[in-house]
Amino acid sequence: MGNEIQGAMMSEAITGMIDEVIVVGAGVSGLVAAYRLMKKGHRVRVLEAAPQAGGVMVSGRRDGMLWESGPNSGMDTTPLINELLDSLGIREQRADARKIADRRFIVRGGRLVPLPMSPLAFLSTPLFSAGTKFGLLREPFIARSSPESDESVAAFVRRRLGSEFLDYAIEPFVAGIFAGDPEQLSVQAAFPKLFALEQRYGGLIRGLILGARERKRQREKSKNNARSFSFNDGMQTLTDALVRGLTAANGVVETGVRVTAIAGETEGGWTVHGVRGDEQETTYRARSVVLATPADAAAVLLASLKMPWDNGGAQALGDAAQALREIPYAPVSIAISAWRREAVTHSLDGFGFLVPRKENKNILGTLFSSSMFDHRADEAHAVLTTFIGGMRQPELPGCDDGALREMAESELASLIGVKGTPLWTKISRHPRAIPQYTFGHLDRVRRVEAVRKHAPGLFFCANWRGGISVSDCIKNGYQTADDIDTFIASCPAS
Ligand SMILES: Cc1cc2nc3c(=O)[nH]c(=O)nc-3n(C[C@H](O)[C@H](O)[C@H](O)COP(=O)(O)OP(=O)(O)OC[C@H]3O[C@@H](n4cnc5c(N)ncnc54)[C@H](O)[C@@H]3O)c2cc1C
Repeated sequence: MGNEIQGAMMSEAITGMIDEVIVVGAGVSGLVAAYRLMKKGHRVRVLEAAPQAGGVMVSGRRDGMLWESGPNSGMDTTPLINELLDSLGIREQRADARKIADRRFIVRGGRLVPLPMSPLAFLSTPLFSAGTKFGLLREPFIARSSPESDESVAAFVRRRLGSEFLDYAIEPFVAGIFAGDPEQLSVQAAFPKLFALEQRYGGLIRGLILGARERKRQREKSKNNARSFSFNDGMQTLTDALVRGLTAANGVVETGVRVTAIAGETEGGWTVHGVRGDEQETTYRARSVVLATPADAAAVLLASLKMPWDNGGAQALGDAAQALREIPYAPVSIAISAWRREAVTHSLDGFGFLVPRKENKNILGTLFSSSMFDHRADEAHAVLTTFIGGMRQPELPGCDDGALREMAESELASLIGVKGTPLWTKISRHPRAIPQYTFGHLDRVRRVEAVRKHAPGLFFCANWRGGISVSDCIKNGYQTADDIDTFIASCPAS
């Protein structure tokens, strides 16, 4: 797309016509909120600092092989996803993960062991000792924690399932999703459904059985049972389609505009200041503003926010900006490597593998990207996506390209028997990849949200609140749009 100005932006900016809603940030969260608002009949403008919309969702092909430098897949946990794809006209391009992608591996003792997916497989797996397996029988009788407790994921799992289960199932799983450390993540904030199972049903096993009935009634699926999906040309299909859908209906998506300040207006509404790539300053006005940026960018905008009315909001603003700054992010670098199929000894019959901390490796895990979905590579080739760093080894992602390549290749050689060097490797860097929902996260989010009482029309919608997964970002985009629609309906007509 390049440094492009799309839709009718220019003429509107010049005539000074007021947008109803300005969304700052064109990742999936902001684009979904904008698209739904547009569908509800609102005039929407999205401002994006990068030259391209889509945020971390970037897909491409090299020598016919598909690579993803952001999410490789989403989970179909809510009917909203297909509703959105139908509305965008991209349902036909949706690709569901192959059946073999249900198989996931965990490294134990330097070998890939399939994660057991049935009670029978659990009993026979070498992943856990007999003590851990039979310890599960105690789980339904372990008391629930206090609902006010802010327990770590690690403490929660140790208490209910034991240390080995933490080390060889949950710790690598947490590294795979959050690139995070279970000792630091809050179970209530990072895995609210797990926390709710204990609170509502008194235990995980009881909750899994009774909760499944409830989800069936609500047409929702648990992340365990939901299918992984992507698109024939990768995840960027979704954000590209959102941009097309918006601009086709007179919405505006303007890339290459970094928002530098927002200010409330005396008569209500907002002024949004931005800078284009060529340093030219630009100003817009809107009734409502959505900050759909990462937490640090939202903190900068809140810290400089000016409000003309004296309603005691200054302290709330400062506190909200501070709360946003306190959200840590995990750094991750990714080595995407392309191989001749014959150079890989392993059958690659699965989603990929995760490496527990106890295994002392230099990688968090690897996705068998070309095995997960059709049309990623032909039979003669394989694409592997290897994640390095996270909260476990935050110093590694900053290594130079050669060192990252070397780390990935040597671990792949020892774990899945790759031979020689790959056809090509693409390094993708995310110094602030994933927000960490650590202790006190829910309180931090409440401190940020509290500012809205003093700043009518200001909304937040990004992966630092309400879930980091693509499906959670979609759900939150819908919810934010509905909240804004209600807000605008309550405003006096201008
Ligand atoms: C490497 C990686 C792999 C992942 N894998 C998966 C996966 O397999 N499955 C899954 O479900 N989830 C995955 N996730 C998580 C998921 O992809 C993200 O949580 C989600 O895409 C974030 O979307 P977002 O819109 O909230 O934020 P972003 O995509 O970060 O978008 C925010 C946008 O705001 C813009 N911005 C910032 N400041 C300004 C400013 N001042 N003015 C204008 N614009 C601004 C940024 O340029 C950016 O485009 C992964 C994430 C990463 C990083």
